[in-house]
This record gives sequence, structure tokens and C-alpha cells, in this order.
Amino acid sequence: AAADQGAPTIFDKIISKQIPANIIYEDDTALAFRDINPQAPVHFLVIPKHRNGLTQLSKSNEGHEQLLGHLLVVASKVALQEGLSDGFRVVINDGVNGCQSVYHLHLHILGGRQLTWPPG
Ligand code: 5GP
Repeated sequence: AAADQGAPTIFDKIISKQIPANIIYEDDTALAFRDINPQAPVHFLVIPKHRNGLTQLSKSNEGHEQLLGHLLVVASKVALQEGLSDGFRVVINDGVNGCQSVYHLHLHILGGRQLTWPPG
């Protein structure tokens, strides 16, 4: 099933460098790379490198507090590195109703233009 908690995704191949991605930040636990289908002048994703069952925020349960916090810190650091000092948006599409397509938790960071609210 699409939401199979254990199924590998394309992001595992990006982490292992089996398929190329435009990586803009990497440390021991997090990776940031440009979205292949950008929805803003700057659009990158921040993902945990070791998923440990963390495919959806709504299924994060216990024990992931440090990693979840780190992903937000990485998102804001890389956003500034990308020139988004006038602001940006962080989005997590979670589950079917949230339009999640890749079941490996990821933060979208969007910026570089005036964004509108609410989204569709
Ligand atoms: P979701 O809808 O799951 O929140 O978003 C998944 C995002 O991953 C989409 O914005 C899509 O463009 C991006 N994406 C899917 N496959 C790849 C890929 O192979 N490389 C990169 N860089 N981005 C991808």
C-alpha cells in the first residue's frame, strides 16, 4: 500500500546517492535537496536520513522529538542560506488527505516570491 510504513521510497535512493539529487545540506541525520518539481523560486525538501519508521508526522508517536526538532532547525538554516531572509513557508503533506505522495517524512520549504494563504 502507498502508506506502507516499511516500504522504501525514492528518497532512500537519494540518501544512498543511487539516484542524483541537488543536495544543498547534509549531516549525520538530515538531508536537504531541491524539489524536482519546484512550486516556488526556492523549493527544497528536508528529510531524516534514518527513517526509523517515521514516514508520517501523524505516525511519529514517541521518541522522535530530537529528530523532528532538528529537521526544523535545518529547514530554517538552509532557508537563510538560500536567501529567504524575507520569509518562507514550511509544509508537511501528511497522509492521503494531506496529499502526501512520498511516504518518507519530509518538510517542504518554499520561498523566493510572495506566497498566498490559504493554500488550495
Ligand atoms: P509530497 O506530495 O509527498 O509532500 O511531496 C513529494 C515531493 O517530492 C514532490 O514535491 C515531488 O516533486 C518531490 N519528488 C518526488 N520524487 C523526487 C525525486 O526523485 N527527486 C526530487 N528531488 N524530488 C522528488
